[in-house]
Amino acid sequence: MPLIEVKDLKTYFYTEDHLVRAVDGVDFAIEPETTLGLVGESGCGKSVTALSILSLIPSPPGKIEAGEILFHRNDAVVDLAKLDPKGSVMRSIRGNEIAMIFQEPMTALNPVYTIGNQIMESIIIHQRLRKRAAREKAIEMLRAVGIPSPEQRIDEYSSQISGGMRQRAMIAMALSCNPVLLVADEPTTALDVTIQAQVLNLMNDLRRDFKTAILFITHDLGVIAKMADNIAVMYLGKIVEIGTVRDIFHNPVHPYTRGLIDSIPVLTARKKKRLVPIEGFVPDAFDIPKGCRFSPRCAHAMEICHRQPPDLNEIKPWHQASCWLTTNET
Ligand code: SF4
Repeated sequence: MPLIEVKDLKTYFYTEDHLVRAVDGVDFAIEPETTLGLVGESGCGKSVTALSILSLIPSPPGKIEAGEILFHRNDAVVDLAKLDPKGSVMRSIRGNEIAMIFQEPMTALNPVYTIGNQIMESIIIHQRLRKRAAREKAIEMLRAVGIPSPEQRIDEYSSQISGGMRQRAMIAMALSCNPVLLVADEPTTALDVTIQAQVLNLMNDLRRDFKTAILFITHDLGVIAKMADNIAVMYLGKIVEIGTVRDIFHNPVHPYTRGLIDSIPVLTARKKKRLVPIEGFVPDAFDIPKGCRFSPRCAHAMEICHRQPPDLNEIKPWHQASCWLTTNET
């Protein structure tokens, strides 16, 4: 039984000049206690997908135009796409059952409150603990994420601690209510590589200890290799390939996935590997190419690619891709 199923999700933005189809028919599922990596270049719709799950799309101009986000909650299934973003059900899910961590901790941490006050607030609201018990729980969470001397640090402000510690504090805040799903949007991109490795290891440990599923969003396939069980590759509002980590890294079939893999530097390789960048840029989501969305940048494009979009086809169980090269119809 999946924990969450996203089905044909479409999230659009209606601006004065354009209809921006940021997410344009996305399907995936996440099983309990597993990590799905959602990868792709900037502008492919990854963050909008995450914000849709949490009903945090700014409206207007944004709107979940179609599709379902089925959240399996104990015995009931709730369609998050149909809930009132400000209603009591969504508020009880957001931050409690589904939590989010951002690339920039200052987005989540308020500089005028102590770290402890912010973690305690979430615990008091969602777990209905009294102040003293909430403080103890907050200290326990700061200890769990590896913050030294948590009894003292709890009374410090975010400006008093380093970037890596802030990221740990944000993870502590997100996990303080034991969410079943953690949405992590580029959580280590702003950190240097040493701290990045520590935070990734920490997230892996916490996933195991807290039995939390993770939707891990990144533009960096190298990062996701250490984190995910499954990977969904997103391009211009659509999933173009989805499979296990092994399938995506050892048997990638979509030219975009292969391009992303070829552009990962391998510092430990004995033989120097030539990095091959993907030519061109992701087009604007209001100016989507006809046919296959990747066709203007694809070295393998055929006549049909410019005319007709390929469906997401099964390569083998749990491995799907949308490319005419993988079908028998060309
Ligand atoms: Fe390239 Fe055609 Fe496959 Fe698109 S469908 S990725 S253009 S080969």
